[in-house]
Amino acid sequence: MRVNIVSLTCCAGCISSFLNAGDALLEILSGDFEIVYSPTFMDLREIPNVDLAIVEGGVRTEEDEELIREVRAKSSILVALGICATHGGITSLGDKLSLKKILEREFSLLDSTRLPELKDLMYPICNFVDVDFYVPGCPPMPLLIVHTLKSILNLKRPIRYKSIVCTECNRRIIPAKISRLYGIYEKESDPDICLVSQGFVCLGSLTRDGCGAPCPRAGFTCFGCRGPADPFLYRSRDIYALLVKVISKRTGIGEEDVKRELYRNPFIFHTFIFSKFERFKARDRII
Ligand code: SF4
Ligand code: SF4
Ligand code: SF4
Repeated sequence: MRVNIVSLTCCAGCISSFLNAGDALLEILSGDFEIVYSPTFMDLREIPNVDLAIVEGGVRTEEDEELIREVRAKSSILVALGICATHGGITSLGDKLSLKKILEREFSLLDSTRLPELKDLMYPICNFVDVDFYVPGCPPMPLLIVHTLKSILNLKRPIRYKSIVCTECNRRIIPAKISRLYGIYEKESDPDICLVSQGFVCLGSLTRDGCGAPCPRAGFTCFGCRGPADPFLYRSRDIYALLVKVISKRTGIGEEDVKRELYRNPFIFHTFIFSKFERFKARDRII
């Protein structure tokens, strides 16, 4: 199988995660998997026609759009790797400011004619081309990437993870009685009890499983990098309201106070970014 690996606007962490797969990666590379184009690994200008394209990053520049359209036209199967490619990802945080403000604030010392032509917002690649498989994560775990690629190589459908991170977490969920929310650095956490029951804002109850819950297992809150789980992909579901309900139920803090706390506390992370994702079209292709 001939493979192109392409990076759009991103940090290149997803391809690094693929390289981190160790023996499983070697097994793939020793089989019928030939990387024929990848600016990360080789100096080649012309994009060849291939069986499979793996794309990390989202579309922030006009150049990104041209590139993804060409890559799609030249590949039979296209995999969106990482949440920048699947949902817009962490790079969408730039959408909080207008393009004009970003240019003024971040690039005022540069000659703007030397910058690539920027789009108004950061977009996931499905806004421009058809995607065959979505593997969200920031970055996706190496074994998840390997499983997806091996399945494609063997002409099988990869396993879909449809549930939530809490199902993979070893912590006990209890209804607690506490008075406020905490940032993860503000107090010691109990290693056995659900982080939300302790007042931390863990997004595991809304986020797609498949990562093995490494963050809550290590004592850190899930920040939602696998995107919303299947039940929350309906447009009618207000995910933020659901998060407030979950926190209120597990902490005993009233919903209005939870909302106030979420904005009051500078130590609380909530990076659940997927607003531009075409939810209905893609649901059955999310791994
Ligand atoms: S999904 Fe995360 S790791 Fe992957 S390119 Fe985007 S920011 Fe980097
Ligand atoms: S909310 Fe977080 S800590 Fe609690 S069970 Fe779910 S994943 Fe684990
Ligand atoms: S626990 Fe949450 S933040 Fe951590 S890898 Fe899984 S989905 Fe991503």
